[in-house]
Amino acid sequence: MQDCIFCRIVAKEAPATIVYEDDLVVAFHDIYPKAPVHILIVPRRHIPTLAHVTPEDEPVLGRLLYAARVIAQEQGILESGFRVIINTGRHGGQEVYHVHLHLLGGRPLGPMLVR
Ligand code: 5GP
Ligand code: ZN
Repeated sequence: MQDCIFCRIVAKEAPATIVYEDDLVVAFHDIYPKAPVHILIVPRRHIPTLAHVTPEDEPVLGRLLYAARVIAQEQGILESGFRVIINTGRHGGQEVYHVHLHLLGGRPLGPMLVR
């Protein structure tokens, strides 16, 4: 899926500041950070949205969350707290159709949603 920007970042064909990678996931700084820490964690495999996952994706889904915890510690926000977000589909405000978990922190993040 070389027309997918996150596949291109995973393949190191597009630039990104990678902060973590393992056999299942890769994490890099969001290009337009909305908080002092704003990192995207993506599966290596192209999965368009959370609505597309199957039972065989359970290991990678667990890894996305565990990587968030590891990276939060590396970024120094484990104690102060952080938020993870997975925007999904049209109403979810998803812009890039390759599953990604936003890891946000480094300041109080305010209410979960704006009404
Ligand atoms: P979504 O709305 O799909 O949940 O979020 C997509 C995120 O990807 C946005 O926060 C946006 O700033 C980020 N983004 C889009 N294109 C790129 C890119 O080429 N590189 C990086 N590092 N982040 C990107
Ligand atoms: Zn992709």
